[in-house]
Amino acid sequence: MKEIRILDKKFRELITEKAIRNRLDELARQMNSDLAGKDVVFLGILNGAFLFAADIFRRIDIKARISFVKLASYEGTSSSGTIKELIGWNEDIKNKTIVVIEDIVDTGNTLERIVDELAIRKASEVKIATMLFKPAAFTKDISLDYVGFEIPDNFVVGYGLDYDGYGRNLPSVYTLIK
Ligand code: 5GP
Repeated sequence: MKEIRILDKKFRELITEKAIRNRLDELARQMNSDLAGKDVVFLGILNGAFLFAADIFRRIDIKARISFVKLASYEGTSSSGTIKELIGWNEDIKNKTIVVIEDIVDTGNTLERIVDELAIRKASEVKIATMLFKPAAFTKDISLDYVGFEIPDNFVVGYGLDYDGYGRNLPSVYTLIK
């Protein structure tokens, strides 16, 4: 098993590049079949989902557009702490089928924030795609339509995901060695 170091931490390979490629083929095939005939906007969530979004989108052969939004954190003035705002909307999503493209769903807090925003913006249908999913950490009642891999509740990097800004360019997914 491949091991790498990023800054002060060591990681072990969890999902190989080949396994990711095979799963991308399967997910895209399923999407092409499920979403045929619809007016679809793929909505990538930056930064982490940029690779997954690109790799999925190049496999999509139905009529579709892609757009990206970013979750910006800033310190709130209230005791609730960090507030996350979705910025960068430049696509009219009203009455469209939206496929949210996430890198990883952990607690589901981020996803819930996005789903709420899509409801406010009156998307007609929302599908959720995530490359990675940590079922043991998930606390929400939101169904995930396309899941790449279910993984244990342990910190991972690679394939778009970072540790302190590094590791996003790794072609496979690595898990933290504690
Ligand atoms: P949630 O809101 O579901 O708890 O977390 C979602 C976000 O937290 C992801 O989009 C990602 O940015 C970050 N995150 C959650 N788990 C991990 C992980 O294991 N590794 C990395 N690099 N980021 C994670």
